[in-house]
Amino acid sequence: MTPAPPRIWSRRTLKLFLRDVQAFLQLPPKLNVWQWAARNIFLSSEVTPEAGFYNPERLPYQKRIQEWMTDPHVNDIIVVSAAQLLKTTVINNGVGYFVAADPSSILVVYPTIDDGKDWMADKFMPMCRSSPTLRKLIPDQLIRTIGQTTLIKHFPGGRIKVVGSNSPSALRGRSFRIVVQDDLDGFTDNVEGDPSAQADKRAANQPRALRMKFSTPTIKGTSRIWKWLQQSTFDQLLCPCPKCDRAQTLEWSQVIFDPERPEEARYKCVNAECGHLWDDRDRYNAVLEGVRRDLWTVRNPKSRIKGLHMNGLYRLMGEKNSMVGFLEEWVRDYLAAKAGGEKTLQVWINTFLAECYEPASETIEPDPLFKRRENYRPTEMLPEEVLVVVAAVDVQSNRLECEVRGIGLGQESWGIEYQEFAGDPTEQLVWKRLDGFLGNSYRHPVRGKIRISQCFVDAGGSKQNEAYIFTETRNARGIYACRGAKDPHAPNLSPLRKAGYNQVPFYFVGTQAIKDTLHSRLLLKKPGPGYFHWPISDDYDEGYFKKLTAEKKVMQSKGKHKGSLMWQLPEGARNEPWDINVYIVAAIEAAGFTERHLRMIASDNERIRVQQGLPPKPPSQAINLDALKEPAKLPDAITMDQLKAAAAPAALGSAVPAAADPTAPQNAPAGPKVDPNPKKTPWKVVGKGRQGSGLDFGRWGF
Ligand SMILES: [Zn+2]
Repeated sequence: MTPAPPRIWSRRTLKLFLRDVQAFLQLPPKLNVWQWAARNIFLSSEVTPEAGFYNPERLPYQKRIQEWMTDPHVNDIIVVSAAQLLKTTVINNGVGYFVAADPSSILVVYPTIDDGKDWMADKFMPMCRSSPTLRKLIPDQLIRTIGQTTLIKHFPGGRIKVVGSNSPSALRGRSFRIVVQDDLDGFTDNVEGDPSAQADKRAANQPRALRMKFSTPTIKGTSRIWKWLQQSTFDQLLCPCPKCDRAQTLEWSQVIFDPERPEEARYKCVNAECGHLWDDRDRYNAVLEGVRRDLWTVRNPKSRIKGLHMNGLYRLMGEKNSMVGFLEEWVRDYLAAKAGGEKTLQVWINTFLAECYEPASETIEPDPLFKRRENYRPTEMLPEEVLVVVAAVDVQSNRLECEVRGIGLGQESWGIEYQEFAGDPTEQLVWKRLDGFLGNSYRHPVRGKIRISQCFVDAGGSKQNEAYIFTETRNARGIYACRGAKDPHAPNLSPLRKAGYNQVPFYFVGTQAIKDTLHSRLLLKKPGPGYFHWPISDDYDEGYFKKLTAEKKVMQSKGKHKGSLMWQLPEGARNEPWDINVYIVAAIEAAGFTERHLRMIASDNERIRVQQGLPPKPPSQAINLDALKEPAKLPDAITMDQLKAAAAPAALGSAVPAAADPTAPQNAPAGPKVDPNPKKTPWKVVGKGRQGSGLDFGRWGF
């Protein structure tokens, strides 16, 4: 039996003892990163002109990110900001905090190991040396025995490891609670894939993991950080106007300046009724006021990823530590960047506006396209690769213009005819002529005859009603009205609409997207999917190619789409063939000629060939581009006999003589013997659009 403990402590002693225990156990008040940094981070004159303890009020918008870092509900932070704005301070404070206040293992990833070394040597270590708290935890000397190197720093409770994204082996291994990825858009895929994902994996399965990504963006569509930002909350600071108090994000489009006098640049209030012109001091105060009132716009409030975007217009600290001269400096920078060409402009957009750059398109010269016309006679015999025939019509106030193109696999296409019908479209005559023309059929070496399957008529101009009247009764022939969609992000083709005059069916066409496609197709140098062929004929003269290449992609300087690159026709130029080809691409889609269906037609052509005992298809002839630099001489006329003569050697299995014969049509069928009066086959393509269902050929009315 154990004896009862002796009662040696009085009530008072016990009370005092408990108070001591409580005081011993009591943790210091929980600080967030900027609160901690204000007490512990001391910057010497080695790294900053304003030596002293970190002052969170100096650039107060940095606080938001530092508050997220200690928020237990935040695991991901994305920061897209202008260069030299907030990134370095935020990273250093954060890493310092997770060394001293909440010891954790920290992985810091830079694009290359040298970038990482620079950060450690020029930014982080100077801060450690001058801050008393950190100096004790991370000694400056390298102690090999405990593994203290330039890139690995051990401290009680954790370590910092700095790696380059180009080294997959460095990204493998132990797990880390904190993963910092700086200059994310500078990362390049390594042999094991995406380094950013590899780094994130190191912080997987950790409930308190914190993954932070920082970068200025790069090219639109490929920027890694921008993709993350778009998924994030996407916070932006709002600044109230000193006159009307309208809270607004700071945008470059509101900077008003005369290129001759940048010193007079002002920032114009976005409120049209106010329109107050802010000077530097107004802008400075507006930024501070925005932070003081905590005015932020949050694009995706439900996102679990915290994101912040801030462009250079929010800058508060200048080189001369003065409040004035910012707007002037920025306008001068902008003018210099613009004068320096596309490359410097991109750098300015990425590093100052912190936005993605959309590259201007490569210009296409009309002359090389004209010179690459080929020696085939589509109105006499279509190239065998043509599977379907599609047309489109552009309606002008005094004429109609129509192009007919043959479409093959991969939407490789062959020009067939380009016709102008002079006459006022308000009168019936010109439409009657068009109607007759659209009834044309073209001879095909295997199928006999092919008719136009689908035709789009532009109903976007001033002759809208006439276009609707014409197409209304001809939908069964695949003739539909279409209009360019206003939205630059519209898909290639809208569902069939019924609107406007008399509820006539029509399609909206996403012209901007299709123009991008056409542009890249016109840049193709070798026949194959998407490649454009044109015959040497009067329809395709130099004027055609000039109009085909007239439009340029230009940065919009005003209007709704200001700042984005859009296709635009220069003043006084014409572009009918370009527009027509946009409609042709949409018409192919409307007709349901997907790659799969085109393949089915192609394999069916093979079947017919076997059925009719035609010789096998010759290999498609490679076109020697050098030879095409000199325009091939067009024979006066090709008779059927010549055609047969040209075809004969190829049929015997030797394709070379046929190609060498200058009179031989280059892309004309070399294989099959052409019957001048082809037997009527049950295979005939007539346009029925999207009628019918299933995958049987009935849907095209064969
Ligand atoms: Zn205002």
